[in-house]
Amino acid sequence: MDDRKFRSVMGMFATGVTVLTTEVNGEVHGMTANAFMSVSLDPKLVVISIGERAQMLDKINRSRKFAVNILAANQQELSMIFAGQMKEKHEVNFVRLDGLPVINGAIAQVACEVVNEHIEGDHTLFIGKVTDIKLEEDEPLIFFNGKYCSLQPVEMGSNK
Ligand code: FAD
Repeated sequence: MDDRKFRSVMGMFATGVTVLTTEVNGEVHGMTANAFMSVSLDPKLVVISIGERAQMLDKINRSRKFAVNILAANQQELSMIFAGQMKEKHEVNFVRLDGLPVINGAIAQVACEVVNEHIEGDHTLFIGKVTDIKLEEDEPLIFFNGKYCSLQPVEMGSNK
């Protein structure tokens, strides 16, 4: 099966956009990711999926902690910064949640500690136990078909 076709088909699944953050020896590392899912309510668990070539893999293997920052519609630039899509380096200021660096203005922040991991093909799935959460009411950034979008509420058609 063709890789490009597989990517295109998977890109038909619209998602939010997150920046994963962690810290090793006082150095903060961030990475844009949309492979994020809630796994369990009791206990509260989430999963992220990190490619084998991403620097983030080694960082989380060392810190055993990460935060998921769900980006707001006006944070596309941050997504591009942490996906390595900007030419210049950008300084990003972080705040803290349960000791972890998190991104100000994200619509939700989820602090986690790694409780399990599974290497599957060329990605590692990290299961994170949620240790703290913060919510800010705002519109989310959406990723669909390789493009950034914003939410458009669906108008319900009248049956009359
Ligand atoms: P690098 O490529 O070294 O870092 C990424 C960028 O972040 C660099 O430009 C770096 O300068 C910047 N950066 C890091 N830390 C800081 C800091 N403290 N301050 C300022 N800048 C900093 N890959 C996956 O493995 N899983 C996914 O789920 C996933 N989803 C994605 C979703 C979208 C919408 C996009 C656009 C990309 C996605 N990627 C995903 C790809 C991933 O974001 C890139 O491959 C990324 O470059 C890998 O980051 P890295 O950890 O290798 O670090």
